[in-house]
Amino acid sequence: MKTTTPALGLLFFLCASCSVNEKVAPLGTGGAAPDDAGAVPDASGGGAGDDLFAQLPTITPTATGQRGAAATVDLRGSLAAIEVLKRGGNAVDAAVAAAGVLGVTDPFSCGIGGGGFMLIYLASGDKVIALDHRETAPSRLEAGSYYEDGVPVAFPELVTSGLSVGVPGTVRGWSDALRRYGTLGLGDVLQRAIQVAEAGFDVDPTFFEQTRRNLARFQAITSTRALFLGPDGQPWPVGTIFRNPDLASTYRLIAAGGEKAFYEGQVAAAIVAAVKAPPVEPGSALNVRAGVLELSDLRDYETRVRPALSTTYRDRTLYGIGLPSSGGITVAEALNLLEGYDTATLTPVEVLHRYLGASRLAFADRGALLGDPEFVDVPVKGLLSKDYADSRRALLDLLQAPAAAAAPGDPYAFQRDPSPAPARARKATGRRAGANDAHDNETTHISVSDAAGNIVSYTCTIEDEGGNGIVVPGHGFLLNNELTDFTLLPDPSAPHPNVLEPGKRPRSSMSPTLVFKDGKPELALGSPGGATIITTVLQILVNTIDLGLPIDEALAAPRVSQRNSGDGSTDAETAFLSAPEAEGLTSLGHVLSDAATLGGEIGAATALRFNGDGTVTAVAEPVRRHGGSAMVEQER
Ligand code: GLU
Repeated sequence: MKTTTPALGLLFFLCASCSVNEKVAPLGTGGAAPDDAGAVPDASGGGAGDDLFAQLPTITPTATGQRGAAATVDLRGSLAAIEVLKRGGNAVDAAVAAAGVLGVTDPFSCGIGGGGFMLIYLASGDKVIALDHRETAPSRLEAGSYYEDGVPVAFPELVTSGLSVGVPGTVRGWSDALRRYGTLGLGDVLQRAIQVAEAGFDVDPTFFEQTRRNLARFQAITSTRALFLGPDGQPWPVGTIFRNPDLASTYRLIAAGGEKAFYEGQVAAAIVAAVKAPPVEPGSALNVRAGVLELSDLRDYETRVRPALSTTYRDRTLYGIGLPSSGGITVAEALNLLEGYDTATLTPVEVLHRYLGASRLAFADRGALLGDPEFVDVPVKGLLSKDYADSRRALLDLLQAPAAAAAPGDPYAFQRDPSPAPARARKATGRRAGANDAHDNETTHISVSDAAGNIVSYTCTIEDEGGNGIVVPGHGFLLNNELTDFTLLPDPSAPHPNVLEPGKRPRSSMSPTLVFKDGKPELALGSPGGATIITTVLQILVNTIDLGLPIDEALAAPRVSQRNSGDGSTDAETAFLSAPEAEGLTSLGHVLSDAATLGGEIGAATALRFNGDGTVTAVAEPVRRHGGSAMVEQER
């Protein structure tokens, strides 16, 4: 979200001529008095001279310097992280501060109504931790809830419904991250987000376009219409100062009361009410189905601290997120396949051909075998085994791209795990990437590091752009539709590791990743984009490790994404179609389809590179989503 707006504090003077969302109460009346937020410092963390938001800097997608660094999709998100770092907070504190601000400025991608996966490197113990705060299916939601008369509810109707809402994990995720690995409290790190929500920010083209794309359903939900649309029921124009005092109040409640203020009490009650009785405009033609979320589902929500998934690629060690995200496993499988080729001797087209083939095979396994590990026995060791990759590599045709989907392999033979193989029926159900697997304009990735060497690679989401479209009345945030990430088969009784079950976490694609070389951090990266998250992370890794591109170029380069499509076709960014490699791939039989359904773009990623001279380079998108923001704590 590009913006070069002057200081928040100056907005009242500068915006006499611009429109302001009028529903908003004046500054300071949007929530509890600051004293109610407990003992928290001023958001600026010091005297007025320390206030980084006092004069917003020009947004830039690449920055190199010393000490800490941050890259996000939004200038204020990155600034919030840098501000916390400058106040002495660590990377975990800074990542949560950034996420809090993005919940305000990037509300259609992430927020407290959703969930995510945070990958944390703790320099002092040389440890990588995966904090899973994925949404869970409510305890009373059954697989059958998604079928009517034996037929699956249409996907878009599930998206905009109470049925698709998973128990949000974000607030407990932030709280656990700070308590276990941070140095500051929620009440502290949320202060800047509260200020931005109250003072407002200028609607930029990204915000405007996201609202416009969701117009029909936003118009149909009373609370969403009231917050995100103007009095005429249209998107707030670019340049409007958008304020969200209800969200500021909700953040204040959390700042004062901790996670309980979200999972119990008035916020929890409002969430449950919105799910059970979605606030639909009278007379709306939209059929917004009710869900079955209970107060106990919220109260009982738990994060999971899991071991990070680790693998090697050539001379690097990689860490990622394991199940219930398919991201780490699928990236690792594809890299294992690629490892069998000496890419240094290949042309870029030959490398891309192998990258697409490897991704196709890895996605075949993903579609058939991966699900929540607390519900299904997944042969992770087999999938990650180098021997298994060797056996699968034989299927890659180096001269011709296939015109059909690949079948999943049999990793059980490589599992070397005493647990019994599950029923074969589990393995038989392949699935090509569906509509819900191929979208781009939602979710966000935050990359942060600090001077002590800690790193956070954090992907958070509310699933679709605008989540389920329902703003929790009085609380200023959208609910997720994460449960549409479950696999919905035509036959409700067909077995699949990713079918909906009560209390289960839907399979994700989120792929926050850390790369180490010679035992030292080299890269941190991640992306939004549904299942294209996996291919985006993979392609950035291939671009930089195999093709030798600097990280900013690796991230900016046009993308192609192969997710085992049924007809063998490959999504290509519009920019890729005119790149020289497109012709080379076409001559190898690849059918490249313009990723127009993805908005022509695949994945607004962010990354950090830790350079040999002790500096760090932060990288955000120069173009996608109108560009992101990279900053360092101390310029060179
Ligand atoms: N729901 C997606 C996942 O967990 C993330 C949202 C997206 O980027 O599409 O993989």
